[in-house]
Amino acid sequence: MNASSNNMEVRKANKNRAFRYICQKERVSKPEIAAALGISVPTVLQLVNSLEEENLVLEVGECDSKGGRKAKAVGPNWGAAYAIGLDITKNHIGLIYTDLSKQVLEHIRIYKSFTDTEEYYKEVTDTLKDFIQEYHIPEDKIIGVGISIPGIVDGNQNRIERSHVLNIYDVPCERFGKHIPYPTILINDANAAGRTEIDSDRVKNNIVYLSLSNSVGGSVIMGDIYSGNNWRTGEFGHMIVAEEEGTCYCGKKGCFDVCCSALRLAELADGKLEEFFEGLEQQNEAYQNAWEKYLSYLATMVGNLHMIFDCDVILGGYVGSFMGPYIREFQERIARDNIFGNTGTYVKSCKYQLEAAALGAALFFIEKYMKEI
Ligand SMILES: [Zn+2]
Repeated sequence: MNASSNNMEVRKANKNRAFRYICQKERVSKPEIAAALGISVPTVLQLVNSLEEENLVLEVGECDSKGGRKAKAVGPNWGAAYAIGLDITKNHIGLIYTDLSKQVLEHIRIYKSFTDTEEYYKEVTDTLKDFIQEYHIPEDKIIGVGISIPGIVDGNQNRIERSHVLNIYDVPCERFGKHIPYPTILINDANAAGRTEIDSDRVKNNIVYLSLSNSVGGSVIMGDIYSGNNWRTGEFGHMIVAEEEGTCYCGKKGCFDVCCSALRLAELADGKLEEFFEGLEQQNEAYQNAWEKYLSYLATMVGNLHMIFDCDVILGGYVGSFMGPYIREFQERIARDNIFGNTGTYVKSCKYQLEAAALGAALFFIEKYMKEI
């Protein structure tokens, strides 16, 4: 590499760091950026100018000052790009949109059973177009649509190898995306949800995400999503936990899915998980017993995952979104079995309770865009 291309690389990397720092702070002065990143003030002025010209950064008034002239503040233009996340499940379609802030800006959920038919794919596209119109998402700034799928997706993110839940095999992304006028990718739902839990600016990006929904899955994120040799990592639902619990839909006995799917709790409350947790709060004895058993299997799995991966274990999916009030007690229970110390704080409830898989699918495009800045 010659000196000038090396300089360009350094400038690009610094510009990217400056932009991410501005995003992190939301409102910051140029001298502060220079001090925080160890770059000279004149260089920061150039970088910020360039970001302003590209409409990625805006002036946002003045910084607070303890005296003297107040420095001008800059902040990110979150709306420089938008991405849409589509979550396809057996019984519903979830849709969200986000921008560079990586937050869910709006979401909808439509109850529609999946069928592998032209009519279904067309309806998905119509729903997407209505969603864009209704929320006035600037169409020229939509950079892509990420599609989350309960199934195994290939390494190029453009083919579903298989989905037990949707009962489809070997389906190309094109079948979903051919009516959608934006770039599309497919992503496994648990991988998508897992990526919402990582902070791309953190150094240690290692987590195991456990998705406790009507079926149980998960993802392993070691810096980035670890997909294994055949894209089948994180199928925690089919690890054997308790043979006496009966046969799993996969045909094996005692899978973790049988012990800890959300259905196991919801079926006690007419299929409504929310009502189960309401009943639990009201000391319903049958619910308390079921919850205790559920937590004992969950503790076993969480402890095992920690033994293998030595990192945070995030509880997500339907049950994970109700775990907040119970997590402290669960951490104490986990701590009793932690042979490496007396803490259980490595297990956490998920940050995103709403449409995490759809958000994670959209974030694929946002991260790709951010990397190019
Ligand atoms: Zn199984």
